[in-house]
Amino acid sequence: MTAQTASTEITSDVAAGGCHGGKARLREAAAAAGKSETLEGYAADYPVGPHDQPQSMCPAFGSLRVGLRMRRTATILSGSACCVYGLTFTSHFYGARRSVGYVPFNSETLVTGRLYEDIREAVFKLADPALYDTVVVTNLCVPTASGVPIQKLPREVNGVRIIPIDVPGFGVPTHAEAKDVLAGAMLRYARNEAENGPVAAPRGGASARPTVTLLGEMFPADPVGLGMLLEPMGLAAGPVVPTREWRELYAALDCAAVAAIHPFYTAAVREFQTAGREVVGSAPVGFEGTAAWLDTVGRACGVSAAAIGVAQDRALPAIRAALAQAPVKGRMTLSGYEGSELLVARLLVESGADLRYVGTACPRTPWSNPDREWLESRGVQVRFRASLEQDLEALAEYQPELAIGTTPVVQKAKQRGIPALYFTNLISARPLMGVAGAGSLAQVVNAALANQSRFDEMTAFFEGVGDGDTAGVWPSQPVMHPEFRQRQRKAKAKASVIEEPV
Ligand code: SF4
Repeated sequence: MTAQTASTEITSDVAAGGCHGGKARLREAAAAAGKSETLEGYAADYPVGPHDQPQSMCPAFGSLRVGLRMRRTATILSGSACCVYGLTFTSHFYGARRSVGYVPFNSETLVTGRLYEDIREAVFKLADPALYDTVVVTNLCVPTASGVPIQKLPREVNGVRIIPIDVPGFGVPTHAEAKDVLAGAMLRYARNEAENGPVAAPRGGASARPTVTLLGEMFPADPVGLGMLLEPMGLAAGPVVPTREWRELYAALDCAAVAAIHPFYTAAVREFQTAGREVVGSAPVGFEGTAAWLDTVGRACGVSAAAIGVAQDRALPAIRAALAQAPVKGRMTLSGYEGSELLVARLLVESGADLRYVGTACPRTPWSNPDREWLESRGVQVRFRASLEQDLEALAEYQPELAIGTTPVVQKAKQRGIPALYFTNLISARPLMGVAGAGSLAQVVNAALANQSRFDEMTAFFEGVGDGDTAGVWPSQPVMHPEFRQRQRKAKAKASVIEEPV
């Protein structure tokens, strides 16, 4: 097989199977094209389970969003036009408000190495120090599978840092972990800079108190609340990673300890540990979560037991009161792919919810252990790398009065007349921590639970109008022909056997 043929086949595999097909072939191709080390690193950092391919959005959206949120950072994507269209569309839908660079390719530029030259040229054109601190270059599925060697790009051009990353859907399982790919690469770069000379101070000057770096994107008010919790221990909240500005990376590394609020940042954690920082899991959610977190963080920062006690005494009574004033009642299931699912679950349980199941697309890590153990000790089933099928099984098994989940889970629940809330937009985008977080879920959750009678009315109203293949308005009663479907299925199976390469 010529290189040209191989490349054309990779491109057409992606076109035919998209994110859900041809994965093994793409992996093989990428390994043969010299990307084995990258893929092995991803396999170690992001172990896969039953859910080992995108069931939601393209993973690269995670890293794209991290870059687009940073000041003075330019982004270049290299991938199939359809992938780039989807990624840019989604990023503008979520208010990116800046351009995304794109280097197009065809089979010829892919196999002759011209694509790499085109990317290099684009990087040199874009790297203007008056405009940018950093240019992030991302290889999507096809260029990764074809071995486009973006790691060979210069480390900097005109004083602008160049950060090349491969983010293939067949190597990085979720968009959450793609955020870690970029955050980890940036931290590694910044750590090397800091080890080799003086670096820029934080915009507002260095903190007078030792800081705790917060790992994971969170509601904007949460870092403020965390700072108030830490203050009695003589500590301050440090930067949130992924950061909004390059110089914050140095401040993030220069901390007393790291709080892995979101537990899936494996590459970022590795950088902090290499810099000699202790990393602790969980977050100050609810009464017990806050008590435990203050204790763990305080000890990691060498704070005295007395000072930890003062911080707990100052925060916990108000949290207990807020939880008591905003109780939540009802049987629930929860699933999502943001990485904060276990924290929300803890808060729901402490608010009084009868939570039966938590599914997260993220993997189990040492930093999710405190939350997993707490939830399991209260009888909640916790499933990491949960697939959509497993989330739906939980829906069927636990018959919740409220399902909090991803779009397809919410859709299925509503079809069954069960009130449901979309996790990403309605739940994870709320304050969760400290006093502000303690009562924040009750309003939205209780309002959704109170909708049951409306669902009952709607179900009764539409009773008998048909569903699935018989849904819609028909001049006469539709007649099902299951034998047609059976015949098509057999024909398709036969065709796929013939097409299977030997
Ligand atoms: S880059 Fe993203 S959208 Fe394109 S094939 Fe890969 S996973 Fe799918």
